[in-house]
Amino acid sequence: MDNKTKEIVEKYKFKFTKSLGQNFLIDDSVLLDIVNGADINEEDFVIEIGPGVGTLTRVLLERAKRVTAIELDSDLIPILSEELKDYDNFDLVHKDALKVNFNEIIGDEESVKLAANLPYYVTTPIIANLLTGGYKFKSLTIMIQKEVAERINSEPNCKEYGALSILVQYYCNTKIVRRVPPTSFIPRPKVDSIVIRLDKLEEPRVKVKSEELFFRVVRDSFNMRRKTLWNATKNLGLSKEDLALAFENSGIDQKRRGETLSLEEFGLLSDAVYDLIKK
Ligand code: SAM
Repeated sequence: MDNKTKEIVEKYKFKFTKSLGQNFLIDDSVLLDIVNGADINEEDFVIEIGPGVGTLTRVLLERAKRVTAIELDSDLIPILSEELKDYDNFDLVHKDALKVNFNEIIGDEESVKLAANLPYYVTTPIIANLLTGGYKFKSLTIMIQKEVAERINSEPNCKEYGALSILVQYYCNTKIVRRVPPTSFIPRPKVDSIVIRLDKLEEPRVKVKSEELFFRVVRDSFNMRRKTLWNATKNLGLSKEDLALAFENSGIDQKRRGETLSLEEFGLLSDAVYDLIKK
């Protein structure tokens, strides 16, 4: 079923900017599935990234205590202000979501959830920022390209498994809410989409001595996917002897490739490297 998106776009003669990842939702069933999938209720403070003409925002406003939406496109600011003026639980921030300090927006709020149909050109940096920033989100329910959802949900030895899988699984449990076809948007994107919910864990999935080193080892291992771990970790700053010792102490075979390691194994390896750097 269609919603007010087309009507608002026509009313303001809004021109889509492709480079801003503007594909607006026109399918009410998807809106409901996002809001239900995110389990939004009247206690929740919701942050939305990229409200567009406010289609999802309106549904969030009906359910949540407050909604703050962050939009980069100057042309959308007057449209959103006018169309959502009757909601006194709405705040609009005109900024690049990649440059926002979410703590300033969250303040003292307790039950904080993020819901968004993300601009696809910045999906990965936005997810990385939201997860590594130490913000107190309970969950992120986001629409992303199907291919990115597959990378997030992937396991060792699968071709989609990589640094993004480790990053998200380190911080979250993941749940696919639904698949969304290109026909649910104007203009239609070229790819299928997925609504996925990421529930922040109380503590990261593995306990490591240095998160920075853990993610460095992960990054180096996947940057050289086809190489053995030995070759991929040569630039961590250890002597050959110490690197050999780190592999021995972690119990991980240096001839393996990064794409075969579980999160726990990356933790063991980075802790063994850490002990030798610190010695
Ligand atoms: N939420 C609307 C919907 O579902 O119909 C629009 C979603 S559209 C996929 C992405 C939105 O993100 C657009 O409104 C776009 O202008 C906005 N956007 C793009 N880059 C952004 C950024 N860096 N920070 C904040 N918003 C951004």
